[in-house]
This record gives sequence, C-alpha cells and structure tokens, in this order.
Amino acid sequence: MFIEEVKAVNFRNYQELYLQLHPRLNIFVGENAQGKTNIIEMLYLSAMGKSFRTNKDQELIKFGKNQAYTKVNVKRLSGETLIEVRLDTTQKKKLKVNQIPLTKLGELLGNLNVVIFAPDDLKIVKGGPGERRRFIDNEICQIYPKYYYTLNQYNRILQQRNKLLKESRGRKIDLEIWNQQLAEAGATIITYRKKFIKRMGILAKLMHRKITEEVETLEIQYDSNVPFKEKDEFKEIVDTFLKKIGENSSMEYRRGLTLVGPHRDELVFKVNNIDVKNYGSQGQQRTAALSVKLAELELIKGEVGEYPVLLLDDVMSELDIKRQNYLINNLKNVQTFITTTMISQLNTANTENRRVFYVSQGE
Ligand code: ATP
Ligand code: MG
Repeated sequence: MFIEEVKAVNFRNYQELYLQLHPRLNIFVGENAQGKTNIIEMLYLSAMGKSFRTNKDQELIKFGKNQAYTKVNVKRLSGETLIEVRLDTTQKKKLKVNQIPLTKLGELLGNLNVVIFAPDDLKIVKGGPGERRRFIDNEICQIYPKYYYTLNQYNRILQQRNKLLKESRGRKIDLEIWNQQLAEAGATIITYRKKFIKRMGILAKLMHRKITEEVETLEIQYDSNVPFKEKDEFKEIVDTFLKKIGENSSMEYRRGLTLVGPHRDELVFKVNNIDVKNYGSQGQQRTAALSVKLAELELIKGEVGEYPVLLLDDVMSELDIKRQNYLINNLKNVQTFITTTMISQLNTANTENRRVFYVSQGE
C-alpha cells in the first residue's frame, strides 16, 4: 500500500500543506525545527488515530487556531481509502474513512498500516525490561487483537493477587484460586510471546544479516520468568508456572508481591553473541532495533497481504553508509518516508525512485 496524497490544514506548524507523494521513497530535508517530523506525525495520526509523540491531540493544532484537519489518500490492492481526521480544541476528534464517520478509534486501525522507526525506539534495545515488554505486547496486539484482552485480564488478576499478598502481612493465606487464574492467563501470554518472538526473531535476524552485509548476527532470546521448555504447550507452561509459584511462596509473602509471571519477562538482543544492551555500540543498538522494525514489515505483510508504509524519522545520521544504503535501495516494494537534516548524507544513486521535499518553517 502507499499514500498518494496528503492534505493538512493548521496541523502543527503547517497552515496549509498539500503533497503528492512518491510510491517508493520520499525524503524530507531541512534544518532542525522546520516541520519534518510533523509530517511523519501526521501520517502516523492517519494510521493510528493518535500521535507517537504526545497523548494530547490539542498539541497538534497550530498555535492560535481552533481546528486542524488532515486527509490522506491510500492506494491499496483492494482499492483506494480516504482517511480524514479533524481535531478541535473544544471537541473530541472526528475520524472518517471514505467519508463515513467512525464511532470508535479501533475502527480506524487497519485502513493504513504503518511501521515507524524514530530515535525513541532505541529504547527497545537500550531501555529497561518494561520497555521491551511494552514493545512486544504492542506488536502482538497489532497482529492478534485478542491478545490485548488477555493482557488486561492478567493485569487485573495480578493487581488483585498483589493486594491480597500485601494485606496478608507475611501470614499465609489461601491463594489457590488466584494462583490458578494467574497461571492460566500468564501461560496464555507466554504462549503468544513465545510464538511471536520466534517468528520475529527469524525475520529480524535475516534483516540484520542484510543490513550488516553478513558481518553481524542478531539473535533475539525470550528470557521468560517462567522457565518453559521449547516444546512446551499451554498446559505444560501452566504446570511450570504453578510449580514456580510454590517454590517462591515464602518470598512472595515476605515481600507482599507477585514474583512469578510474564510481568517479569525479559527479551535479550545478542549481536555476534554479545548482549547489545550492555556491550553494543550505539550504531549496533540502532541496527538491532531497526532490524526488529523491518521484521515487523514482513510480519504485517504476512497478515494483511501487502507491505505497510515505513516511516523513518531521523535515523539515518547514526547509521553508516552501507546500513543507509540498504534502507534506501533494498526496500523496493515499501513506500518509505525519511527525514534528514542533510541530503548529502543520503546516497541515493537512483534518483528516479524518489522525491525530495525541502522543508522550511512549515512550508
Ligand atoms: P528536527 O530536525 O530538530 O527533528 P523537525 O524539522 O523534525 O526538526 P518538527 O518537530 O517537525 O521539526 O517541527 C518542530 C517545529 O514545529 C517547531 O518549530 C515548533 O515550534 C513547531 N510546532 C510544534 N507544534 C506546533 C503547533 N501546535 N503550532 C505551531 N507550531 C508548532
Ligand atoms: Mg524531527
């Protein structure tokens, strides 16, 4: 799929914006604070119904204005989709797909698929375990919406169980029903994560090999808090879960906290067998995170039948020429948006396959 046209009124620092986009590569060049990321943000908004930088829709409306409007035209294998967003300082945002108003934000998802890679995404590799769990959960939700429900259910059980443990003040109480519920919801999460991380790992490794021209090897390891075996299915994972709860029970009472479960899972990124979180260079960390995002392109293609649009905000400057080249020249069937402060940085030999936009003060 690709975005053919974009229109925006009073969005961030753009009073009026109209762009005809290239189906392959679109490069936005400009100095700092000119409006490059704002364009990426607008495209993301059209896909996900919210910004990737802020939860406050108001911030997207141009200073001093009451309304903002955006429209994108998406060409898909199945035809054309028109997505409109209207933001208002005094009202809830309004979304329309092919002129039809949507009642829920969820209805927007799937009309335009995007994968975004922005400087903040380095957190996937460099941040704490919570960042990685959040990342993996988001990815799974995009592909299996049911997972979202299981995750909420698990968190509710976890909160309840923690409350009971805390209130028990170290005395043993009967937690059997809670243990069973926690183990079942937890094992469901682990089963999803196990399957998904395996698929993602294979694809990310492949991408990583290509980007680094076969010099480096990426392995993604699922380090679950519940030590399941590779061949284990749901039932075995529940058993292992309950066994570990048994072993940790005195400690849980002492600390008044649930210590066993996927809320303590970890994901380890290894490049050439070295943990990149602690030992990788900045470029290696970025390449590992990028490979995971490129794997996401393939995962979404597998699900929806065509590639999503790729949004690359400010990521070129930290990649060396060969890694940049891969991104620019090898993603032939993926519409890609790149922002950069220096066009000379980008080695785009094939000038036919791209359109360059110079961005200056919201123009
Ligand atoms: P960098 O290279 O530093 O990442 P950029 O070109 O990506 O820069 P953007 O983040 O797209 O910059 O745009 C920032 C500009 O948009 C700033 O000048 C900021 O003041 C302006 N801006 C942000 N929000 C609004 C708004 N609601 N109304 C008007 N201008 C805004
Ligand atoms: Mg920017």
